[in-house]
Amino acid sequence: MLSNIRIVLVETSHPGNIGAVARAMKTMRLSDLRLVRPKLYPNAEATARASGADDLLARARVHGDLAEALGDCRLVVGASARLRSVEWPQLDPRSSAGKLLPEAAQGSVAVVFGRENSGLTNEELSLCNYLVHIPSNPDYSSLNLAMAVQVVAYELNMADLSAGGRLCPEILPEAAPPELMAGFYRHLEQAMVDIGFSDPSRSERLLLRLRRLFARARPDRDELNILRGILSACQGRKSMRTE
Ligand code: SAH
Repeated sequence: MLSNIRIVLVETSHPGNIGAVARAMKTMRLSDLRLVRPKLYPNAEATARASGADDLLARARVHGDLAEALGDCRLVVGASARLRSVEWPQLDPRSSAGKLLPEAAQGSVAVVFGRENSGLTNEELSLCNYLVHIPSNPDYSSLNLAMAVQVVAYELNMADLSAGGRLCPEILPEAAPPELMAGFYRHLEQAMVDIGFSDPSRSERLLLRLRRLFARARPDRDELNILRGILSACQGRKSMRTE
């Protein structure tokens, strides 16, 4: 199950952190590292800090954007050092492992970590079904990136060890992958403008709330197609269904 869990780092600035993440992952039996637009990579400092986990580093895949890195992941959890103004369903690392493992038994899942200086944007966050926050000092809650990965990875490893391969999950429906969700959100935003419902320059918060609703509902591909059909019809781009 651990092999279906990918760790995604978004726009990491310090290559040393990338190496330290590889090491944190390998100690906890994780192996799938994805890098979204890393500032400096490949890099000798990353290799040095990986110290023995450079095999994992060599296999790391680099992506142009987050949705692409998430590919067909059925569940995505975003790691955040801060509490957000729009509340997203939030878990601690132990309960996030409890959600991720049963889904990893059925397909790919991901945990996403943000930039060292600014974390994840709201748009990136809205591709996540949950947030994971490591309980920490409220006045000083930001861990070093690799240390945050270590804590989350430790809980995943522990959860896997205690399941002992016996995890026999209920069959969970397959949610539409993040790339399709990103396309749906763009369509929704455009449709809201086209039908005169909202002014895009003033609707960031509204859009975030709507994304949170769909992240919670986790529609499958067919449900998303129905919703997109309705949006197209509202935009006058589609004739009425006859069935
Ligand atoms: N200054 C940034 C924090 C960046 S730390 C901010 O304000 O958001 C780099 C990344 O490590 C974060 O984006 C997050 O993914 C992870 N991280 C750091 N501390 C964390 C915590 N307490 N809980 C969960 N993730 C954390």
